[in-house]
Amino acid sequence: MSKAEIGLIGLGTMGAALALNIADNGFDIAVWNRTTAVTHDFHASAGDLAPRITPTDTLEELVQSIAKPRAIILMVPAGQPVDDQIAALRPLLDDDDLIIDAGNANFHDTNRRAREAGDLPFLGIGVSGGEEGARFGPSIMGGGKREYWDRVAHILTAISAKHGDTPCATWMGEEGAGHFVKAVHNGIEYADMQMIAEVYGIMRDGMGMDNAAIADTFAKWDKGVLQSYLIEISGKVAAATDPKTGAPMLDVIVDAAGQKGTGRWTVIEAQHLAAPIPAIEAAVVARNLSSQREARAAGETLFGTAPHHMPHDTLTLDALEQAMITGKILCYAQGFGMIAKASQEFGWSLPLPDIAKVWRAGCIIRSAMLDDMAAALGEDAARNLMFAPKFAELLKSNHAALRQVVAQSALHGIAAPALGSGLSYFDTMRTARGTANMIQGQRDFFGAHGFARTDGGEGHHGPWGS
Ligand code: NDP
Repeated sequence: MSKAEIGLIGLGTMGAALALNIADNGFDIAVWNRTTAVTHDFHASAGDLAPRITPTDTLEELVQSIAKPRAIILMVPAGQPVDDQIAALRPLLDDDDLIIDAGNANFHDTNRRAREAGDLPFLGIGVSGGEEGARFGPSIMGGGKREYWDRVAHILTAISAKHGDTPCATWMGEEGAGHFVKAVHNGIEYADMQMIAEVYGIMRDGMGMDNAAIADTFAKWDKGVLQSYLIEISGKVAAATDPKTGAPMLDVIVDAAGQKGTGRWTVIEAQHLAAPIPAIEAAVVARNLSSQREARAAGETLFGTAPHHMPHDTLTLDALEQAMITGKILCYAQGFGMIAKASQEFGWSLPLPDIAKVWRAGCIIRSAMLDDMAAALGEDAARNLMFAPKFAELLKSNHAALRQVVAQSALHGIAAPALGSGLSYFDTMRTARGTANMIQGQRDFFGAHGFARTDGGEGHHGPWGS
């Protein structure tokens, strides 16, 4: 029997879908899973694709089933399982065999693993799109030595999502560059989801709209500037009915958001880089607060329910859409700004326009706006996206609506932290003379830190002691 072109370890949700996708694209694949029964069940249910899949019971058998030089994808939980799996696999491999970690690794771990691998081939790739994406076309962000990427690029581009004819699989740079870009993708995803949840809350609690009307609104927005996967699925979530009770599905879902930590990693890294991503930070904080259900209920008892309901015509749905457009641009501007900062800091030369392109299909944050973002970043990757002419125009015509929405939410006690922080970011970035002169004065007063003067020179001190 001929040998497989690639191997895969970890037939969970993502690994099984990815293995089927690889087989579906005409590549023979050998698979192994820690629990052997899973391997055989997977093969038995692979249907027409089963002949392209070699199930194996041991790591040795897996390795022997793959053509040299081998390439093996790991799709196991991030962290120690990846290190354990590499340690178990390496002694069985030749020196030119390639290990590819395709899970959601922290990019610092990928940096370390790439260094530990030394001359042994290793790649860390970010895969986005969930189970559906993995099965029918994910967005793939590669990191590691370019020559290793080139060895498997034909498989990864074949299985990736396509935007028109363009594959959404790109090499981002050395070591953990792919996993870093995936982390920022997830950060943007957190902020976009949070902003959508906030406008949902305004429609539900402020404007008194029912789920059907909310679903219709998202469906309408999905045909305009906001066209995106997240807006589309939000409409579908709002429209769904609970099969158990017949109630709207949203009404029976507990309001505590889960998270696997990638948003938090992005925020921690942004702080290390001093890269401002306030909308993403607000979204992570909002998820953390959402889990404090008992405390929130106690707060409502203690302080009373906020007024919430907005008198008729306080806000229009058009204003909400415009606020969402503004918030979304600002959140992407922050994410790309962080990528640009990391690129400088880590000496990675991250390809910002290509990153926008790779996110246009297959991944969770795919959206119509990314086409224009790719073009704007292609003109000038170092420029804040909010200053690119296309987005500056959109911000000019829509930021007043964001101001209205944030102000009315505040007046009616509806929390809108991501939209609010987006607005503060916008106002900060359009104010030439800010207020940090006061901070510099304070720092000099208590710590003699010195300040720069508007009429020139550094290291001046105030007359505080006299
Ligand atoms: P699952 O929990 O569905 O599957 C995990 C797989 O890893 C199983 O095959 C499991 O084997 C195996 N496994 C677990 N622990 C070990 C271990 N210590 N050693 C060897 N194998 C182990 O996870 P997912 O498929 O959802 O996720 C896999 C990776 O993909 C993660 O890094 C995740 O963050 C990432 N990812 C997930 C996405 C998603 O939407 N689910 C999206 C993008 C990335 P066994 O059958 O024996 O338990």
